[in-house]
Amino acid sequence: ELILAFESSCDETSVAVIEDGTKILSNIIATQINSHKRFGGVVPEVASRHHVEYVTRCTEDAMKAANVTYDDLTAVAVTYGPGLVGSLLIGVTAAKTIAYAHHLPLIPVNHMAGHIYAARYVKPLEYPLLALLVSGGHTELVYMKAAGEFEIIGDTRDDAAGEAYDKIGRVLGIPYPAGKEVDRLAHLGHDTFNFPRAMIHEDNDDFSFSGLKSAFINTVHHADQIGEKLSREDLAASFQAAVIDVLVTKTIRVAKRLGIKQLVVAGGVAANQGLRERLAQVVKDEHLDLDVVFPPLRLCGDNGAMVGAAAHIELQKKHFAGLDLNADPSLEFAYAATYQP
Ligand code: ATP
Ligand code: MG
Ligand code: FE
Repeated sequence: ELILAFESSCDETSVAVIEDGTKILSNIIATQINSHKRFGGVVPEVASRHHVEYVTRCTEDAMKAANVTYDDLTAVAVTYGPGLVGSLLIGVTAAKTIAYAHHLPLIPVNHMAGHIYAARYVKPLEYPLLALLVSGGHTELVYMKAAGEFEIIGDTRDDAAGEAYDKIGRVLGIPYPAGKEVDRLAHLGHDTFNFPRAMIHEDNDDFSFSGLKSAFINTVHHADQIGEKLSREDLAASFQAAVIDVLVTKTIRVAKRLGIKQLVVAGGVAANQGLRERLAQVVKDEHLDLDVVFPPLRLCGDNGAMVGAAAHIELQKKHFAGLDLNADPSLEFAYAATYQP
């Protein structure tokens, strides 16, 4: 089964051809980072224009790289939310056009489900599983009793983890998106600032990163005012230690409570080396019977392959959309009443 998959929810235009949900025949990713850098974040109008400009070329490249024709395809899939409405619409329109022209079923995909299913390229997923979704716009603990069933157990009450990285990175003079560079700097420094670990021992499964962000910014501004020079490496290391402490502590606590088989870490921040190292260490130190799965680095950020992996699950269930499919910028996981706290 061959799926042509589109992703255009934010600032990556990506088109992939996927075989049976687990084999990547092509995964073309056109990133717009250079256009957004000078604004310190994604500018929606600029993003939409880029998607229009790139989507046809990405589609042609993806088909060519996979060495397939439209007649070989089983279905067309597309991210229809959550994301920027103008950006989503470009992918949705492109996918609909191809579905219509070639009489192919259209599969609507939730972008966040895509991030989780990127782990299918590592190994088959085993349920029940827990996903730690950490990206530019989300920080959630998602319980999946079975494929296609999502229950949000914990959520951020303010900033997403990736968003916090990008905002403190800006204070350090690192261009958007700052996560990767902060991660690199963190490995060169030490946790000397002891920033707050919000809600780490509280009896809930939620997160909060805005207090940490404020503490970081205040520390840097105060040092600026009194003319003190702080170590960027130590600042990055201290910020990262606080983020990872909270993410790992709360995730492991939920994993133990729910008795899950696998822990999938997904989204752009799943590329974080510090997070990968610490989770592996905790599982080892505590002798936990927990299979931690990280998607390959290049599949942590937004890409069409993850959309294809998610679409393949929907294809099995024959969850198709009509040509009236619309973008849904605030799409949430369909409610699945399986989780009992
Ligand atoms: P969402 O998926 O919630 O809609 P998004 O698609 O914009 O948001 P992703 O593309 O999944 O987000 O992830 C991008 C985020 O990941 C950025 O905030 C970026 O700084 C962060 N990121 C990337 N690499 C790393 C890293 N090594 N460490 C920490 N953060 C990282
Ligand atoms: Mg992006
Ligand atoms: Fe994303």
